Amino acid sequence: MAKPIILSGIQPTGNFHVGNYLGAVRNWLRLQDSGQYEMYILIPDLHSLTGELASDERRRLMVTAAAELLALGLDPDKVTIFVQSHVPEHAELAWIFNCITPVAELYRMTQFKDKAERQEKNINTGLLTYPILQAADILLYRATVIPVGQDQVQHVELTRDIARWFNRRFGQYFPEPEHLLSAVPKVMSLLYPEKKMSKSHGPESVIELADEPEIIENKLKKAPTATAGGSGSPGAQNLLLLLEHFGDTGAYAGFAAAEQDGSIRYGELKQAVAAAVSGFFAGFRERRLELMADPGRVEQILEQGANRARHKAAETMAEVRRLAGLR
Ligand code: AMP
Repeated sequence: MAKPIILSGIQPTGNFHVGNYLGAVRNWLRLQDSGQYEMYILIPDLHSLTGELASDERRRLMVTAAAELLALGLDPDKVTIFVQSHVPEHAELAWIFNCITPVAELYRMTQFKDKAERQEKNINTGLLTYPILQAADILLYRATVIPVGQDQVQHVELTRDIARWFNRRFGQYFPEPEHLLSAVPKVMSLLYPEKKMSKSHGPESVIELADEPEIIENKLKKAPTATAGGSGSPGAQNLLLLLEHFGDTGAYAGFAAAEQDGSIRYGELKQAVAAAVSGFFAGFRERRLELMADPGRVEQILEQGANRARHKAAETMAEVRRLAGLR
């Protein structure tokens, strides 16, 4: 029997952070190793055009993103890892989906509202239609399992709607995908712990997986932990969560109990978190540097991935074109 298909992606906006890891990548590794799925992981360079990256930077970040995914343990023999624009069918399917999606649905998307606020001088059309391209990313592979963080759930719901609208208008073809959350669907920002961790709040608000130990320590020093009301602040909860997932159980239990009874010393908690996170990713940092020193090898893996992805995409588009009366 054919295996269920998984698709997910991660933007080439720079180094990945612990939110990406706990919210998405860790789940991908688990799913890859289960052997139960046919799996596609894409690096969405077309999506990144909605932001303001320079072209050279985009090219560089693409290789960095792929190197980081490989260094984290994604295995190109088990997972198709590829760059979105290497498979032109993504843009073609997105156009067809543009023509069946009411524009009002796009204005409702919270990510659009957030991003439009952040780049108010560049509210381009791509920023609005971004979730349509994302629906095309998913449905091009007829994926049904979409492992993402909490912030992507609304887009997966829209993808289901788009599949339904297409099927109603042109004939039953697309499956309706479901999101799959990890155990930690939302890691909070270091500096603004009421908000999700995101590069958009500045480099000091995220712990990057590639950060050296002293950088992590310095970032954590600036992270707010206490609130006027005493313990239980979102900042402290977030640090405890990082310790729970990257540290050993004993250390976490000790700090969690101290947080409960009010005896916690946040300076010590921060040191423990810094040691845990930097220790957890020490091997990753080494593998990443090796891969970054050999971009030709990374590009070759991406090319192999694109070849596999193109094969699947071509099958889907042949059927879509037939159903839509384009051929
Ligand atoms: P992006 O950087 O937006 O491409 O995100 C890649 C993946 O990481 C997506 O599945 C997101 O849902 C997930 N993600 C991003 N930020 C966080 C966060 N702060 N906490 C948990 N998951 C996140």
